[in-house]
Amino acid sequence: MLKLVTCIKQVPMVSELPWDAKTGTLKRELAEGMMNPACKHALEAALLLKNRHGAHITAISMGPPMAEEVLREAVAMGADRGILLSDYPMAGADTLSTSYTLARAIEKECPDFDLILSGCYTNDSETAQVGPQLLEELNIPGATFVDQFEIKGNTIRMNRTVDEYLEILEMDLPGLITVSTHQYNPRYASLSGVEDAFNRADITRLGIDDLGIEPEMTGIKGSATRILDVYSPTTEKKNDVITGSPKQIVEELFAKYDDKIGSAIGKDLKDYE
Ligand SMILES: Cc1cc2nc3c(=O)[nH]c(=O)nc-3n(C[C@H](O)[C@H](O)[C@H](O)COP(=O)(O)OP(=O)(O)OC[C@H]3O[C@@H](n4cnc5c(N)ncnc54)[C@H](O)[C@@H]3O)c2cc1C
Repeated sequence: MLKLVTCIKQVPMVSELPWDAKTGTLKRELAEGMMNPACKHALEAALLLKNRHGAHITAISMGPPMAEEVLREAVAMGADRGILLSDYPMAGADTLSTSYTLARAIEKECPDFDLILSGCYTNDSETAQVGPQLLEELNIPGATFVDQFEIKGNTIRMNRTVDEYLEILEMDLPGLITVSTHQYNPRYASLSGVEDAFNRADITRLGIDDLGIEPEMTGIKGSATRILDVYSPTTEKKNDVITGSPKQIVEELFAKYDDKIGSAIGKDLKDYE
């Protein structure tokens, strides 16, 4: 039976949230959480494999204790097991220490996995780095933004759209894919699934001692990224009145704004001089 791991992040339900100015991290305890939408597509892809071929699915998440909710939701949708990585030293992690911690947990809890499926990016940080960094940590092959795939024996064949081209790739397993949001529309959890998720779900909570990792390797201490500033960009509107004859107006307009007009219509106007 295929052994699948899906990486699930809990993201805040609203976009405007206060930031901790000192650490540059989101004050997520002030928001309700939800499963990151792209992670749902990855989970759906895993669930379809389970429906067609039979598979055991482990959903794994690193986050504060409330992230357990998204693992229960994953179980309600059809995952078999949830693992929550939550410990004070893991807080404030960047993508490097997130992927390091996820990798150590997968090695310990799911050492014989066939395929890891992660979302392509998150709604709150949107770096798209965790999947590629995780495959580096685990020293396995991988592909990003996979639209569709099928597994035959030990091989996965994948479709991937790059610009206007369709790429067809093949890779040996074990491996990792990040799943695009173009296909695999997520299912709703069934009522019996919700009951199972809250009454019988197998959710394991692990901290750094369980994983045997040093506090310096995870969370804010293990992070190579420093957030220097976080702010909402402001926009400004200004009216510029051009007067004169139609010819003068057109000449002045192009003299002042030809770069902007060129980029709006996708042509360098200097080519037409
Ligand atoms: C206690 C604690 C507090 C945290 N607080 C914050 C916070 O305030 N703000 C914040 O953004 N992050 C927080 N994190 C999580 C961590 O910092 C980010 O998840 C990480 O940096 C991912 O970056 P990204 O969102 O750009 O992921 P991307 O690379 O864009 O995500 C791509 C895919 O990687 C997988 N992935 C990403 N993150 C996780 C994860 N944590 N668990 C499982 N799979 C994942 C998902 O499949 C996702 O779809 C916290 C973690 C802990 C333990």
